[in-house]
Amino acid sequence: MSRNPRVVILGAGMSSIACADHLSESFDVEIYEKSRGVGGRLCSRRHSDTARFHFGAQFCTSTNPSFHNFLKHNGAQNFLGSGIDLMTNQQLETKNYYIHQNGMQSLLKESSSNLNIHFETKATHVNAMSKTLTLGSNLQVPYDVLISSLPLPQAKELIDCSIIPRTEFSPCIAVGMMVKLKDQNKFNAFKNVNAEVSWVGSSKFYNPTLQETWVVQLSPAGSQLKKGESDESLINYGHHTLESLLESDVELSSSSVFRWKFAQCERATHNQPFTSLADDIFAIGDWHISPRVESAFLSGRALAEHLNGRDT
Ligand SMILES: Cc1cc2nc3c(=O)[nH]c(=O)nc-3n(C[C@H](O)[C@H](O)[C@H](O)COP(=O)(O)OP(=O)(O)OC[C@H]3O[C@@H](n4cnc5c(N)ncnc54)[C@H](O)[C@@H]3O)c2cc1C
Repeated sequence: MSRNPRVVILGAGMSSIACADHLSESFDVEIYEKSRGVGGRLCSRRHSDTARFHFGAQFCTSTNPSFHNFLKHNGAQNFLGSGIDLMTNQQLETKNYYIHQNGMQSLLKESSSNLNIHFETKATHVNAMSKTLTLGSNLQVPYDVLISSLPLPQAKELIDCSIIPRTEFSPCIAVGMMVKLKDQNKFNAFKNVNAEVSWVGSSKFYNPTLQETWVVQLSPAGSQLKKGESDESLINYGHHTLESLLESDVELSSSSVFRWKFAQCERATHNQPFTSLADDIFAIGDWHISPRVESAFLSGRALAEHLNGRDT
């Protein structure tokens, strides 16, 4: 009896779920994700029962109707904040900014709920000759089609084929702070703060009922400059940045630092939403288009359509 082709996807971020969710039922799809949940660079971390640190993507914009439907299906809401771009001194136009009130990773919850995902399972090697994936436990998984949704530098470490595309990723240091503020502020998001800080935002624009936290995200240049500093020094820096933006003393009740090694990719110069790396090995991810959640979605969807078409 013939069986369905086995599609193995590495990673469970936006590009992976957008792809898996759209593959036709004639494929058996399995996803291997190294962390405990879906989201990848959308991740926010629960800090206590009443607070969350939003370390990853802060919001997403949507221009594509199919991404718009995906967002609606997964409970996206409009951004509740009011923000200012300090480079232009203009108020942010947030009409087309979307968030999820439980954190950005929840944008994948509904669409991933029926997928076969193995969490806390790290992929360590892909053998293109024998068509097997090796997991951290040394278990070997055979595949018919393998899809990597990892940032390109991470994919290159795993897959033994000559990967042609090139793209640079920059790091991002994010400082999360649980705060007590005396006054309500006019703005709860600040973009392009200075050369070292690209974004400072409050959790109030996700869920005003939870205890307020703020995140300070360093720019690629700021993250490079400060990557050797201790968490304590980064928290002092984040605290000072927040106090000067809010022009008031800010009482910190707790804090945490998250260091993204591969945060932001370059904008691609080619027009190719996915890559064929070898026979039956493909790569998807934001880096095919631009460093945005919507780009990751479009990359995953494009490959699913390609494979669905190939199957018929
Ligand atoms: C700090 C920060 C702020 C951002 N802000 C915004 C924003 O405001 N708006 C916006 O649109 N975009 C923003 N982005 C970009 C956006 O988050 C990404 O474009 C998008 O989430 C990328 O999705 P992806 O599926 O391509 O990759 P990823 O989300 O990186 O998914 C890759 C997945 O692979 C997993 N993985 C890695 N290695 C292995 C392995 N060996 N085995 C198994 N699994 C593995 C990872 O855990 C991850 O889940 C931001 C990103 C960062 C880091």
